[in-house]
Amino acid sequence: MSTTRGSLTGSCHCGRVTVTLPDDSAGVIACHCADCQKLHGNYFALLAADRADVRWTGEEHIRWYRSSEANERGFCAHCGSRLAKRPVEGARVMVSAGLFERALPRRVVKNLWGAQKPDWYDLPRVGPMSPEEFVSLALAEPIGTASAQYGYALRATAGNHRAPGVIALTWITAADASERERIRAHSKQNVQDFAAEPGFISIVTGFTGLRGFTVTAWEDEDAMKRALAKHHAVAMRELFGERFVASVWTSVWTPTRVNRLWVRCPACGALEDVSDDHRACAKCHAELPPRPAYW
Ligand SMILES: [Zn+2]
Ligand SMILES: [Zn+2]
Ligand SMILES: [Zn+2]
Repeated sequence: MSTTRGSLTGSCHCGRVTVTLPDDSAGVIACHCADCQKLHGNYFALLAADRADVRWTGEEHIRWYRSSEANERGFCAHCGSRLAKRPVEGARVMVSAGLFERALPRRVVKNLWGAQKPDWYDLPRVGPMSPEEFVSLALAEPIGTASAQYGYALRATAGNHRAPGVIALTWITAADASERERIRAHSKQNVQDFAAEPGFISIVTGFTGLRGFTVTAWEDEDAMKRALAKHHAVAMRELFGERFVASVWTSVWTPTRVNRLWVRCPACGALEDVSDDHRACAKCHAELPPRPAYW
């Protein structure tokens, strides 16, 4: 079987150097590492191809600069355009996406070394984002800085309107992305068990980077213990019996004070204390929305 490969041709600013790659070369990949920041003045947007598949013309104008022990960077000696990075010992060449100008029918498909990027720009988005893609992107390449990270959260509720008697507050850190998937699979089963326990109120759970969290409200500690005796006990045995998760903390809190619960009257705009679950506005007697759950 033979397949016909198309090609992509680019050039440096002055045109003395041109490069041709197969059009199925990988990329665009954005490298945000400290070396690329210095050398490109920004991140390095690149296409990656096998060295044997990359054709240069005007090669006599290319200067190769040893940027690290393992890599060298090529630039045009006449116009200074950054052309490529290549490992000193290796079969791949990373060619600047900018050489192909606007004709390149590509989008960024991957970010590398995102943690080394400066604060003044955000990582390029990888494709258009649906809510599901946003979740997986937040999981794969945490969005944020060293001190603040975005992620996702979800709330699962049983429609229980009783006030919480205890709240469990936990976090767990996965060692890597595959452990995070394993934790999420356990959480999914746990939430199903929780929903089946009559004393369960609600859980808000999610992930930022590799760190997962839960805030779970229960009518009382017995309800919590009944629910945790199910699948959660299996997960705990894996956690303590195997090399699974990097760190973990759990806690159970009882309220110092459960404050009043307020709902806006849709008719007169008054904020009504509906802790007793009354359904008529005390100011205008209009019907109030149902009292929300405490958690
Ligand atoms: Zn040039
Ligand atoms: Zn880099
Ligand atoms: Zn009212």
